[in-house]
Amino acid sequence: MIAGLDPLRLTAREARRLLIEGEIAASELTKSYLDQIASVEGKVHAFIQVTADNAAKYATEIDQEAGATRGALAGLPTAIKDNMVTEGVTTTCGSKILGSYQPPYTATAVRRIWGDHIVMLGKANMDEFAMGSSTENSAFGPTHNPWDLATVPGGSSGGSAAAVAAGEALWALGSDTGGSIRQPAALCGIVGMKPTYGAVSRYGLVAFASSLDQIGPLTRSVYDCALLLRRIAGPDPFDSTSVSLPGEIELPTAERLDGVRFGIPTEYVAAGIEPGVLARFEQTVALIEELGATCVEISLPHTEYALPAYYIIAPAEASANLARFDGVRYGYRSAHADDLVSMYEATRGEGFGAEVKRRIMIGTYALSSGYYEAYYGQAQKVRTLVRRDFDTAFAQVDLIVSPTSPTVAFGLGTRTADPLAMYQSDICTIPVNLAGLPAISIPCGLAGHLPVGFQLMGPAFSENRLLSAAHALEGAIGFRSVPTFCDSRDAAIAPGGLCHQAAQEAQER
Ligand code: GLN
Repeated sequence: MIAGLDPLRLTAREARRLLIEGEIAASELTKSYLDQIASVEGKVHAFIQVTADNAAKYATEIDQEAGATRGALAGLPTAIKDNMVTEGVTTTCGSKILGSYQPPYTATAVRRIWGDHIVMLGKANMDEFAMGSSTENSAFGPTHNPWDLATVPGGSSGGSAAAVAAGEALWALGSDTGGSIRQPAALCGIVGMKPTYGAVSRYGLVAFASSLDQIGPLTRSVYDCALLLRRIAGPDPFDSTSVSLPGEIELPTAERLDGVRFGIPTEYVAAGIEPGVLARFEQTVALIEELGATCVEISLPHTEYALPAYYIIAPAEASANLARFDGVRYGYRSAHADDLVSMYEATRGEGFGAEVKRRIMIGTYALSSGYYEAYYGQAQKVRTLVRRDFDTAFAQVDLIVSPTSPTVAFGLGTRTADPLAMYQSDICTIPVNLAGLPAISIPCGLAGHLPVGFQLMGPAFSENRLLSAAHALEGAIGFRSVPTFCDSRDAAIAPGGLCHQAAQEAQER
């Protein structure tokens, strides 16, 4: 490791300062992350593909670029969830059906930060088509939580979260349809934010449930979250649902919360929260009050219907979105067919995993004539009620807080046989997706040896308010822990060792 560069603890803010002041070179910074990947990736498996050679080469080019012509995020090593298309770099979406898909274009969010000269380290692992809460639905094998390798990192952006937590990336982009940024951020002890629906372009994000999907940052600090979000946010002519934010995303500075009114929804706290998580949550609420804010109990009465409504709406949209994967236009085509219809069937049968098939079947059923009103129509009405609950609450309070996930990281394999138990992981994150609102998760301590996430939710386009409050709270919480097994501060990293091989294998996969 280059002296003073600790990939496990460095923030993007600090890395950026070091680069701008010429204290480190982009190539050194990138090397320290590639070394950390070589050292821990064999155990964590955060990436579907590590683009090590490209990253090293590109970082060297940035070093040759004059300071004035460097982009705003020049040289910052970044992981990208593998459902954002990247021209020239295979994009699998965690699926066999896109296993060798070479996109002819790049997602807007990625194009923007490429334009800022970030260094892409690779494509992060994820649940197939972002369907899942543990990253165990990846066709490329699960990611392990760096805090405890026998547990899951959460999902579906589990690869992005684990990469940041393990020091394999400075920060990452993920996507959140029902919690897929915030829940893995919580389980991996980092910051994760889902912006207001429409704040970030979805162009080039492989669609799961189009009315819910949003791209957002996974970072090591709230400041970094703002720094990344301000570069990816904003309208895009290629996504008609993208909009302008009322103002630029500000870099947060607040240290106090004087006068801010927080609401604590009784329905969330009652939702089967583990005692260790509840204890950290209550401690954090006490801190909020110490910082000068007020906390009141509020009610979001339709919360219990959010999860069932989501599991109609999301699969319904997914069943329509995934119809395009037919062996003709994209990726994988089965060799076991002799006419068109059997080719479709075999391709989809072989190309999709079990959870994706389950969602397609649920969604197709819910949309079928005769059932459409009973299921999809009804779920959309519930969605309106959930949104109105938030409207009523935000007339009373500025922000709403809850635990991000009812539990800490759970054991690998413990929920795979029971989809309903897996779906319960998202009970606290799903409602804001249905309502289109922004929310952020920040680490608020450990329960046992595993991190706990604290969620702050705000009205539409309240990103600055959310980031400011989360920043003040983060300072007061002072969470500094890192997963010990990834901590190579004292241990010399031996390049070319076993782990290096594992990273190379991951790259070839
Ligand atoms: N876990 C939820 C699901 O499986 C949310 C996924 C997501 O946000 N992409 O649908």
